[in-house]
Parts: sequence; structure tokens; C-alpha cells
Amino acid sequence: MTLDEICQEQFCKSFKLPSLGASVAGTDRGVDASSEFDQSVHRYKQFREESRSRLGALDSAGGVEFLYGALPALLQSGLSSCKLPGAERMDEVREAVTEFLSGYEEAYQPFSLHDIAFKVLERGLFRSVPMVQPSLDLGVGNGYVSNYIFRGQMPTVGSDPLMAPFQFHQEYRRYAHSLCIDATQIPFERDTFATVYMVHSIDHVRDRGAVLAEMHRVLRPGGTVAFSDLSEFAPELMPMGTLCKAMGLDELSSDPSRFFMDMAGESREFWSIDRYRKALAAAGFEDARIQYFCSPRLARFCWAWFEIHLAMNQMDAHLTALRSGRYRHLRESFFDFVTSSLTPFLARDAELCGAVQRGFNFFITARKQGASSPAVPHAPGNGAGDTFDFSGRLVCPACKGKAVIGQESVRCDRCGMQYPVIGSVPLMLPAYAIAYGRIRDELARHRWRRYLPAIRMCVLRRPWLCRVFNTFRQMFAR
Ligand SMILES: [Zn+2]
Repeated sequence: MTLDEICQEQFCKSFKLPSLGASVAGTDRGVDASSEFDQSVHRYKQFREESRSRLGALDSAGGVEFLYGALPALLQSGLSSCKLPGAERMDEVREAVTEFLSGYEEAYQPFSLHDIAFKVLERGLFRSVPMVQPSLDLGVGNGYVSNYIFRGQMPTVGSDPLMAPFQFHQEYRRYAHSLCIDATQIPFERDTFATVYMVHSIDHVRDRGAVLAEMHRVLRPGGTVAFSDLSEFAPELMPMGTLCKAMGLDELSSDPSRFFMDMAGESREFWSIDRYRKALAAAGFEDARIQYFCSPRLARFCWAWFEIHLAMNQMDAHLTALRSGRYRHLRESFFDFVTSSLTPFLARDAELCGAVQRGFNFFITARKQGASSPAVPHAPGNGAGDTFDFSGRLVCPACKGKAVIGQESVRCDRCGMQYPVIGSVPLMLPAYAIAYGRIRDELARHRWRRYLPAIRMCVLRRPWLCRVFNTFRQMFAR
């Protein structure tokens, strides 16, 4: 499914209306039956379905105990034979891990091994970039991660293309303004923001180049962009393929990583440092700094667990059980395993990545050419958006015409496109505007029903019409 289709699906669902169908959406990537990639993904999906249905036939407690009890025990025992020496920042990192895990009641991420590793590392990296206001955060999802990373700070605008998970983010009150945005069509005037963040979301977008161009357009001269992405080493650091090969299942060996790429995003490719450097320069950025994070052993370790999880389960299948009192022992032992096993790797991550010049992810910062805008570092607690002219800088994502905020929708002055506002969040994607238009047309088409009483009065006042009407009624009654 493309982003447009997902958006429209969600929008229709929120109005309890049937889906509008793929015809409304933009171009569909489709499944190319002849492509090796698609065949590979299809094969792995079948393998997954099979393993899930076999598991489903067993007692369901087996799955949660295996993933959160047996598998961690195995991994932890393996690691105890290759311990890392302690690092300086151990206590600080352990605290950061504990803090991330403490939100297990509200989000799924504390039960996801690779998320824990990525986000603790990303917190350190993103917080090293001063938050100069106004700032924009692209792709916040359910808000749990951004709330964790930016704790104590308030980015001016928080955004995500999808409205469903995004509704949760508002509970954290982490942003001065919230809206739905497609990172390839940002609905703000050029030179609006001093800082743009994108925490591990660019890998979900079809065209990374288009995102870089848009981030550059909305940044003020001298403004900073900071984002993270999977590196070109990611596929080879996913161990499931190697495991399949080692077991003699050669046909499956490249399927797991392709399946993940298909699941994670529309682009199906990872960029190298070189490619990023060229693309950043072409988009008009300078002073690009690119560093790896999540060292190979940590990545393999987390990904082995995650891929087995993926092969057996839906990500959230065990959440209710793990949060319940019945599985408290399992939850606590899993969190103990996470804290004791991950902390040494997380504390030494920069050093470990540097030694081999690779890692599972990139952290990238760059500056838009031009004079630095006056730096106004944000102090915790002061309303970031107070001085930001939100409505004055909003534009239509499709034509970049001036957008005017109304009660129910945001209307483009130039092309007339109307973007719906749901729960005070403007949905600034053409896909939502199209779905909204369709729904309004649909309602308008049924408006004739309101004239029914008047028609009935006309009929009743004319005796001959009444007779015709009764004749027909009797005919149909028989
Ligand atoms: Zn427009």
C-alpha cells in the first residue's frame, strides 16, 4: 500500500465509511510478479503465515514465554562469554534505558529490543543538536519516542503523515502545534524553521531526495537539519537470512531482509555515506556530518531477536499479556536482560562503530547555506510556539499557495483544495483533501432526502396524484 492509500483508508475509517478504493490514491507501486524482490517478499510472507498458523494452533502462552523468556536467556548466556569492559557513561546510559522501559504501559516500544537500542542512542545524538526555534519534527508516530528524545524541550511543530497513531501523541503535549505532513510536501513557506528533525522516519519514504529538498526549502539560511536512517550495512546485519542459510534453507536466505525492507518503507534501498554526501550537497546543504550508530554486534544481537519475533508474531500480539500481573515475572526478567545486556554496548557505541567504520544506522546533520539566523536556544518550559506565526506560514502542500485556516478545514487560496481539520489537527496531505472532498460530495448527493416531506405535502394536496400514488402502492403491496 502507498502512503496515499493508507491515509485515505484511515480517514474513511475515522468517519466509519467504506474505503474509497485505490483509484483515489496516487500511483501504486504494485507487485511485480516477475521481480526477484517481490517473489522473495512473497515467499517470506508465506513462511510467516505458515509459522503463525502453526503457533496459533498451539497454546498461545508458548509464544510469549519463548520470545520474552527463553530467547533472551539464550542470548544473555551467549553474551556472558564475550563481555565488554565497563565504560565511563555506564550509569547514565543505564538510567536512560530504565527511563525508556518505564513507559511500557503506554507504548509497545519498551517491548521491542531494537527500538530500545536505537532510541537510547538516538536520544544522545539528537540532543547534541541545539534546538533553535522554531523547530519542526517530522514523523513522530505515536509520540512515545519523540517525547522520550526531546524530554524537557518543546519543538514548535510535531507532525506525522498518518492520523491514527498521531492522535496519541497529543497526550504528551510535547509540541506547540501538531499537524499531518508528508515529508516530501511540507506545508510551510520557505525559510520557516531554524531546526528540522526527523527521527528514523526517512527510511519509510519512497524518495529520500525529495525529503532532503523539502527540508532544505523550509529551513532558514544557516538552519540545521538532523535525522537518522538505516545504513547500507543494515541488510547484512540482519541475522535471520544467515540462520536460514546455515540450516540449509538457501532459498530463504535473502528473503528476511527483503521482507523487512518491504515492510518498513516504500523505497526498498539503503543509501551509503557517499550517496548521502552527494545528495545533501545537491540539495544545497553544507557542513554535512554523517556518523554510524548501533555497532554491528549490538545490531545483530537485537535484530536476531526482532526477526524471530517478526517471523512468529504481530508486533503487538503479546502486549496485553506482558502488561498483566500474570506475566510480571517475564516482563521483569526481560527488562533485566535488556538493561544488563544492552547497557555496555550502548555506552561504548561510538567507539565500537568507529573501530570498524560501520553500524546499522546513520546519524546525519547538515546546515543550509547562508547566514546563521539569530540563535534563540530554547529554555525548557517556555512556550516554544508563542512567537511562531503558525497560520501566517502555512501553505498548500500541493501548489504552495497560501492556506487559510477555518473551523473544519484549511483552504488553499490558489487551487481551492480543502484539507480537513480533525480534533484540531490539520491533515495537510492532498490524499486527505481528496478523501474529504469525496465524503462531502457523497453527503451532498443524499441531500435531496431533506426535500422528501415537501414532496409528500405536494402529493397529498392533489387528489389525483394521491390516487395514482395509492394505485402504485397497492400494486407493489401484492
Ligand atoms: Zn493549493
